[in-house]
Amino acid sequence: MTARAEADGAGGRLASGPVTGPRPAADGPRNEAGGPRNEAGGPQNEAGGSPNAGDAAGHGAAHVVIDSVGKTFRRSGRRTVALSGVNLEISAGELVCLLGPSGCGKSTLLRIAAGALEPDEGTVTVGGRPVHGPSPDRSMLFQTPLLFPWLTTRKNILFGPKAQRSAGLNERDDPELDAEADAILHIVGLAKFGDAFPHELSGGMQHRAAFARAIITRPSLLLMDEPFGALDAITRLRMHDFLLSMWDQYRTTILFVTHDIEEAVLLGDRVAVMGGRPPGIREVIDVPLPRPRDALDADTEVFLTTKRRIRAALTV
Ligand code: ADP
Ligand code: MG
Repeated sequence: MTARAEADGAGGRLASGPVTGPRPAADGPRNEAGGPRNEAGGPQNEAGGSPNAGDAAGHGAAHVVIDSVGKTFRRSGRRTVALSGVNLEISAGELVCLLGPSGCGKSTLLRIAAGALEPDEGTVTVGGRPVHGPSPDRSMLFQTPLLFPWLTTRKNILFGPKAQRSAGLNERDDPELDAEADAILHIVGLAKFGDAFPHELSGGMQHRAAFARAIITRPSLLLMDEPFGALDAITRLRMHDFLLSMWDQYRTTILFVTHDIEEAVLLGDRVAVMGGRPPGIREVIDVPLPRPRDALDADTEVFLTTKRRIRAALTV
């Protein structure tokens, strides 16, 4: 218990640098993880406005382009319009939250972006390539961390890159992958738990292991579907810190689904408020809070003002 509690607390600010993952060339590190909060204040980069002036190639195009996406489900003669006319552009390295009530199409949109579901209308492109079917370039994380129960943490983490190698998608040899697994286990605060099985990990630790598994394949887009929704309030706060710290280090583009306004404001560069009939994105709201952020930001005036704006958009 003590070891677990200790490891659970390790998810906050982590000193180690990144070992993998794309870091958009355009803006480099925004601040030092672990530095005093708000010291780096102001906008995330010199470009102002959007946190990323360009995509990973520095061309100024969005990394993710969701263009006029619509989806209608048909089941036993009933039609459900899940999404209609959805447009959203996300810059490389940006963290955008999709916020809305249950049933407004958040998961549907995320699955379309993941390539797990084809839209009826419109297109999604990631890194300039149309999305058709899953790709290791896009990792998805769910409310329940999907870890293989019969594999240790380390083997769970290495599963993706080894499968990629078997499929000829990378040439990383065993020593390189082992070193990378070591480094990632350290970064996510699970260095002592590489040989533990998922049932030996706490909820927060399982989420960190799932995060490590998602990031080691070096995706350019992380899709997260209410990942912390089932956690207790304190573990959830720790996971917010953990995610912000990881995002700061890896700078992976993240699309994060939530129905929690405070979570959306704390995490997001922007919040896309969903809802309406037919369902779609009602408004995209900037979150002008400086980085790095932590739970104390929830008491600031900017936080409260942003929350109010989002609430108003939800109730229009
Ligand atoms: P959210 O994630 O915002 O709660 P979803 O994207 O899961 O919403 O669902 C949007 C709507 O589409 C809901 O009305 C849901 O019942 C419906 N829906 C989602 N998936 C399917 C499916 N596979 N078949 C039929 N209806 C579906
Ligand atoms: Mg959902």
